[in-house]
Order: sequence, then structure tokens, then C-alpha cells
Amino acid sequence: MSEIQDYCVKPVRKLGQNFLTDKNIVAVEIREAEISSKDTVLEIGGGYGALTFELAKVAKKVVSVEIDRDLADVLEERIAKDDVKNVEIICGDALKIDVPAFDKCVSNIPYQISSKIVEMLGRYGKFSLLIMQKEFAQRLVAEPGDKNYSRISILAQFHFVPVFVRKVGRKCFYPSPDVDSGIVKLFPRVKKVKVCDEKLFFKFVTAVFIHKNQKLWKALSHSKRDMVMDKKVLSEIGRKLTDADVKVRVLDIERLARAADEFYGFVKKSC
Ligand code: SAM
Repeated sequence: MSEIQDYCVKPVRKLGQNFLTDKNIVAVEIREAEISSKDTVLEIGGGYGALTFELAKVAKKVVSVEIDRDLADVLEERIAKDDVKNVEIICGDALKIDVPAFDKCVSNIPYQISSKIVEMLGRYGKFSLLIMQKEFAQRLVAEPGDKNYSRISILAQFHFVPVFVRKVGRKCFYPSPDVDSGIVKLFPRVKKVKVCDEKLFFKFVTAVFIHKNQKLWKALSHSKRDMVMDKKVLSEIGRKLTDADVKVRVLDIERLARAADEFYGFVKKSC
């Protein structure tokens, strides 16, 4: 925590500024990420650099994106002071900028934008190791039928094979968040699930998971706002699906992909 106190920048809650202070956890991240000296590593949210400087010791290059101007300045200052040559700080919103090419992403992510970060990383399809809120981590790795199985499980598992590494207690951060965290590894999926239209697939998944305890056709019939379709039409098409009578929460990603493709196929025919 000493470097944080040295700089006296007040943590901004809405930016998820809970800084990692436990060096053992940083060591676990470095070990588990298996970074080689050829890797360019992306870090989302450099903070005070708890992770940045350790990454720099093992990677070819670290690109650290930090939204907070004050923290980006602190990082620049520390880089200059320690004469670290292989760290590039970009002050900006990681969700909005075009990040330079990278091989791996290793980050303690701001919890508020966890879903969006997973979505963004899905577009790059690179191995990622992230510290995130424990509940969120459990949802990423949840399997069909599990109580944590949700839209975000499908989003993550569409692009990655997520693996829960270990819990990280709230005391490992300053200031301590209200909840514990977890380390998750995201391995890019070798065999991707095939869908006719990725965007429509996620729209379908989002709509039906709002009613995940219902049968698929029923969940669809309740989603007229998300699907922007008439309830009767939704219900009619929903009943025609192969898994119409199966509860949403037990459908695996392949069956959801088939359901979405069938659904949009029927919609097309009915137009
Ligand atoms: N890596 C540091 C550490 O481990 O101590 C900081 C981690 S802290 C949980 C998250 C960091 O992400 C904060 O420094 C915050 O300012 C930054 N951040 C929040 N939203 C961001 C965004 N959209 N783009 C880039 N950085 C962001």
C-alpha cells in the first residue's frame, strides 16, 4: 500500500479503484499467466502499477490502459523513475480505444465494466487472466443447470473456455471492496460454436435468460420487448423449436445456438 499512500490520489469508487496490495497474489497472476519474453501483454486499468511492473519483468512489452489521468501520470512518473523501457501507458477508456495488438491480457479489472470487458476480449480471442468479483467469476464458469448459469456464462463460453483459478480475499485490496474476488483464466476456444449470426444469437440469449427458469417457448413469449416482436408470434414460433419444452437454464451453448438459428429461420419464413 505504501506507493499508493506516497501519491495520495483518492480512489474513485465508480472507476472500480480497488488496488491490489498483496504481492503474493501478483506473483500468482504472473505464474498462472505463463508469460514469455516474446509476449506483448495488455493490462486494462494500470492503477498504481502493482501488476504493471511485475508484468514488465517477464514480458516483451506491457501496454497498460488507464482511464484516470492522475493515475496514468503516476504510472508515467514511476516508469521514468525506474527507467522501465518496455511499458507503454495509454490514458483512455479501454472499451473505446483501439488497443494495439497483444498476445495476452492480464488485468485486475474494474468490476463495474466486467461484462463489457469480457465482451471486448471475446472480439480479440486472446488468452486472458483476470481478477474480477468472485460472483461474476462464478457466473463465467457456470455450467447448464448451475444456479449461476446466465447470459454472461454463454457470452464467455462462446469465445473462451473459462477456468476458475482461486479466490482472492477482499483484504488483498486497498480500499477493500465489499466482496471477495476471484482469478479466472480465459482460454480461447479452439472449436467455436457455429451460429448464423453472432449478434442475433446474443440478442436471443439475452432475451431468453431473463426468464431462465421457464421453458424456452414460454421465455420467448415473455420477451416481446427485447425481441421487438408480437407476443403471439413469439409464442407460436417458440413452440416450434426443437427444445421448446426445455427450461432455458439447462440448455447448453450448442442447443442455444441451434434454438437461435431455428428461431430466426422461422421468423424469416413468416415474413
Ligand atoms: N491494476 C491495478 C491494481 O491491480 O492495483 C488497478 C486495478 S483497479 C481494480 C481497476 C483500474 O481500472 C483502476 O485504476 C481504474 O481507474 C481503471 N479503469 C476503470 N475503468 C477503466 C476503463 N474503462 N479503461 C481503462 N481503465 C479503467
